[in-house]
Formats: sequence, structure tokens, C-alpha cells
Amino acid sequence: MKHAHISKWLIGAALLAVTPAVVAKPKAIVVFYADDLGYGDTSVYGQAKVPTPNLERLAHDGCRFCDAHAATPICTPSRYSLLTGRYAFRRPDTRILDGDAKLILPVEGSGEANVTLPVLMKRAGYRTAAIGKWHLGLGAGEEPIDWNGEITPSPREVGFDHSFVMAATADRVPCVFIRNGRVVDLDPADPIEVSYDNVETKWEGELTAHTNPELLKAWGRPSDRQHDKTIIDGISRIGHMRGGAAACWKDQDLADRITAEAERFIRESAGQPIFLYFATNDIHVPRDPNPRFKGKSGLGIRGDATVQMDDCLGRVRAALAAAGYDDTLFIFTSDNGPRVSDGYEDGAHDAWANDNPAAPFRGGKYTVLEGGTRIPMIVAWPGHVKPGTTNNALISQTDFARSLAKIAGVDVPDGACGDSQELSYVLLGASDAGRDSLVEQPAWGPWGYRKGAWKLINSKEPQLYFLDDDPGERHNLAAERPEKLRELQRDLRAARGL
Ligand code: CA
Repeated sequence: MKHAHISKWLIGAALLAVTPAVVAKPKAIVVFYADDLGYGDTSVYGQAKVPTPNLERLAHDGCRFCDAHAATPICTPSRYSLLTGRYAFRRPDTRILDGDAKLILPVEGSGEANVTLPVLMKRAGYRTAAIGKWHLGLGAGEEPIDWNGEITPSPREVGFDHSFVMAATADRVPCVFIRNGRVVDLDPADPIEVSYDNVETKWEGELTAHTNPELLKAWGRPSDRQHDKTIIDGISRIGHMRGGAAACWKDQDLADRITAEAERFIRESAGQPIFLYFATNDIHVPRDPNPRFKGKSGLGIRGDATVQMDDCLGRVRAALAAAGYDDTLFIFTSDNGPRVSDGYEDGAHDAWANDNPAAPFRGGKYTVLEGGTRIPMIVAWPGHVKPGTTNNALISQTDFARSLAKIAGVDVPDGACGDSQELSYVLLGASDAGRDSLVEQPAWGPWGYRKGAWKLINSKEPQLYFLDDDPGERHNLAAERPEKLRELQRDLRAARGL
């Protein structure tokens, strides 16, 4: 017995020597996922007009990444990749989903090769939760979603023990929260109907930006023909909705409500290991931060929404500390790069006239310029991530699945998480040996590909950049370096399986 004990200790000591960063799994793992927040959007990445003291504290406690990427420059596919460890292009319908789209994540039990990150976390013994923005579809798609009954499959069926989510985005109907498959605060006498029929008015008496512009808040006016449908809480949305008045959220309370739900989940889970996927709406449109954040940034409503997001982050961390989760691996990041104006006349365009939210990069949401997928990322874990550090490794959110599985001590089944790389040392800031390469999937248009500091934008007139010298992607080297261009084009084709 004593011998066995010593052997175990020796093995443990050997593991400790080889793997200094990963010795015991954390009591809590939190992914705090911002929306449309760019690399240059916060004070912690150099934007002094947007004070984000809680993010600064997180960076002070942990490691700030400088070459971390979302899988794509748009919401749904990036989230799909983070939660499955697969490039989104492996599944062709991972476009930006409507609010009534079917679930695109594999349900639990549909085969070992389909295992999701939350299922892996459950297997590692964590109580799992998805709180905030979902935008990965609901229901099986065989019949329309019944918003008035039990919605299934929902986050619960992909591995989340607890969920409190918006179906899609705040600019898409239905504007309600769904807790564990049921719309919250629904009055059965006022049932919800949702339609994405491509018509200006779906129902007699529907209030839209066209029929009742006087109902719109000053910052809730649409700037395109997509965001001009049903008005809810003074903001016209994408899609049509009627009924469910008591269940509809107030946009200025949205951040507070999801944060309160996270605080409750943390409090009620105290003592148990937890995995929390907390996806904020900030700073996606419509931006309607709580009035207490008005004017708190020097960059208008979009900057104020970022200050609100930072406040949520501080509250989630405070709730973890209060519930005894000192041993928390906390990851902050964003699902894609920035977009200043994105469907509403909210003043952001003028406020940001002289500031680049992707700085020092170019491009943003929808593009494969670096600003599209290179996003802020900060990781902290007391005793494991060295405080106040930075890391320049190339790493993707697609790598979270295998890296977190490794940290949590759970095996990834054969065939699962196929594009995810086990980069736990990098994620914990202990190594800068990141990925060699990365596909940057576009929303539309040409594809991007990274190989070290080389960057290909595979447009009709191909672009080749060397980011170490040219982070802004302004000096096209395609004509000067034809052999490097061909190499990256060949590698991109191979990575896409073409
Ligand atoms: Ca987004």
C-alpha cells in the first residue's frame, strides 16, 4: 500500500515536472464570450476612451493574448466552432441563423464523434450552464418551434445542465429568454408567434418601423431593410413577432438579467465544479445599455455598451469569489471582430469616426482581414497562469475543446473535435508554441489563411501579407513572393478538404 502510494506520488511528481501548468483541474471553468467586440475596443487593448477596469484586473491576474482568433468573423459559425472543436465550414448550414432556425449543434448521445465541449465538461464532472446569447438554433427543424410549449432540442440536449438564453440575437425576434426549454414569464393567454417570412408586414396591425416610426427610440431606428420589422421595446427587429408581451425583454435590462442568472447559477452551484458558458449580447446591435452606463465611455453608445459588458464581467468574477470559486479558469474573448454600424442609426458611426475598433489591424466583422477574427482574449487561473503576462501565440477558439478537455482530465473520443488542437500550455500562457496555421472562414467573399506570420487572402487578385512587418495588411507581397503565395494557396485548399 505504502509502495503504491509512493509510486503514485512519483508519477505525480514526474507529471508535475513535465506539465507544470496542468496539475489539477480547476473548480470552475468560465468562458465569458463578448459579441462583436474588436481587438482595439477596450482600454486593456489600448482604447483609452473605453474604460474597462474589470478587464484590466483580469489581465493583471492573467495572460493577455495578441494573436488569438475566433473561427470566423460572424456569430453563429464562431460559436459552433468553439462548442464543437470543428471548423464551421465542415457543416454547410452554419450561416448567421434566423431566430426560428433549427439547432445546428449535435445532440448528446448522437455518437462519440459528435461530442461537444459541454458534454466533455459534464464527463469531467462539471455542472454546465449556457447563459446569454445562443444563436445556434432550437428544435429539430421537423416542425416550427412551439414557443408556447417545451422547446426541444435546446441547450440542454447538447450538454448544458442549465440554460437561460436568447434564441438568437437582440436584433432578431423572438425577444424573450428561454430557461431550460421554456419561455420565461410567458402568459398562456398571450401566445407567441414568430415568422421570418420575407414580407414588410406579416399580420394586420403589426407595428413596424414603416407603420409606426413614432414608436422607435432615437437609437432604435433601422438603417437597412432587414432591421425594419416588428417593433419591440421601441426598437424594430429582424423578423416578425406577435404575442408574448409579458415575456419580452427590455433591452436596457438585458445585461442585468443574464448577469443575475449567472450569479444565481454560481451561487446555487457552490461546492460543485462548474463550467459556465456566459455569452453576452454586448456589444452587438441594438445597443441599448442601461442608463447608468450612459456617457461612461468617450465613444458614444457603442463604447457605453462595452463599459456595461465590463461591469458584467466584474460581477460574474465577484459572484465566483463570493461562492468560493477561487480556483477558477476564466477565459474572456469575443466571437468576431468589430462592426461600428450594423443595422441601426445609433450614432456609432459618428462617435467612431476617428477611432479604429480593430486597431492596429484592418477590417472587422464579416471580413477575413485580421480585424475580422483576431479578437481580444484574456485567460486567468490563480497559481497556473502567470499574472500580468502577454502571449503572442497563434491560437483559435476552435482549440478550446481539446485544450479544456486536457485541463479537465477527460479524453476526447476518436473522430471528435477534429479541428481542435490540444494547446493547453498555450491557453495557460505557459508556451508560445501555438498553431502553425489557421483557416479564416469568411462570412462571404474570399477565404483567409494564416501560416505563421504569413497571411493569404485568396481573392481573385490574391493578397499575401507578412504580418510581423505589416499588421495592417497594406503591402501585398503576392507578386514578390509567388512561391509563398502558391504554398499558402495549396495549404488552404488542403485544410478545406478541396
Ligand atoms: Ca458576433
